[in-house]
Amino acid sequence: MNIVVLVKQVPDTATERKLSPDDNTLDRAASDGVINELDEYAIEEALLLKEKHGGEVTVLTMGPDQATDSIRKALSMGADKAVHLVDDALEGSDALQTAYALSKALGTVEFDLVVLGSESTDARTGVLGAALAEYLGLPQLTLAGKVDVDGSAVRVQRATDYGYDVVEAQLPAVVSVIEKINEPRYPSFKLIMQAKKKPVEKLGIADAGIEADRVGLANAATETVDFAPAPPRAAGTVVKDEGDGGVKAAEFLAEKKFV
Ligand SMILES: Cc1cc2nc3c(=O)[nH]c(=O)nc-3n(C[C@H](O)[C@H](O)[C@H](O)COP(=O)(O)OP(=O)(O)OC[C@H]3O[C@@H](n4cnc5c(N)ncnc54)[C@H](O)[C@@H]3O)c2cc1C
Repeated sequence: MNIVVLVKQVPDTATERKLSPDDNTLDRAASDGVINELDEYAIEEALLLKEKHGGEVTVLTMGPDQATDSIRKALSMGADKAVHLVDDALEGSDALQTAYALSKALGTVEFDLVVLGSESTDARTGVLGAALAEYLGLPQLTLAGKVDVDGSAVRVQRATDYGYDVVEAQLPAVVSVIEKINEPRYPSFKLIMQAKKKPVEKLGIADAGIEADRVGLANAATETVDFAPAPPRAAGTVVKDEGDGGVKAAEFLAEKKFV
């Protein structure tokens, strides 16, 4: 079973993230890049499926050169190889363009299943999985809290407000996973060393058959017209408990219509 897992490098949420005033896009060089948190669960799920059904796990990332660090991290968790879609023409691509570009890159890889996170921590559009499945013409199973493969079918428990639905599709298919679907493994020192030698194929847009006028900031359907720093968080209301703390807290909640 050939599984491709999508891995996005995002700015470390612990560091300050900057938008560049020239073009209102995220200044990815200004902060350390890390693997998008939900993608660690996607990698782990792909590895668990490989351990159960055999086959190979390929990491696919679209991102600048610095994204190589996150690719190596994914390989050190146990993925077999990687494809890095890297090209200046892709800079500033929006979610639809990114989905299109990744669908073309997937055209260069053999796969039975694509696994990705249900959202990124930087843009959080949460639409990439759906858009990718549309471009590939494949079924999508989103927000999976459990994934099972049985012969040529994949079945997931799709998280809902009231519990979950069981959704099934024929392979090949696209599956997005939610947090806590599994416990991502920590790379062992041995795997970290092995990851340095694992193949990473670099693809430019020409290699993937991506038309230059379908990607990049200049051709994006969405545009960030302006941005402003988030207002500093206001200090909260301090309730001094002189035996009536509970009452005061209840009054505060009622006043704010929380209760
Ligand atoms: C602050 C900010 C705001 C943005 N706002 C918008 C917006 O409103 N509309 C818009 O169209 N674009 C927006 N973008 C651009 C958007 O982030 C990128 O196009 C992005 O690559 C795809 O969208 P996403 O991260 O929201 O995907 P999501 O749908 O949130 O990501 C889901 C999963 O898709 C996979 N994935 C996403 N990107 C990649 C990648 N480059 N390589 C490999 N796998 C990937 C990951 O597995 C991820 O877990 C914004 C970017 C930033 C930084």
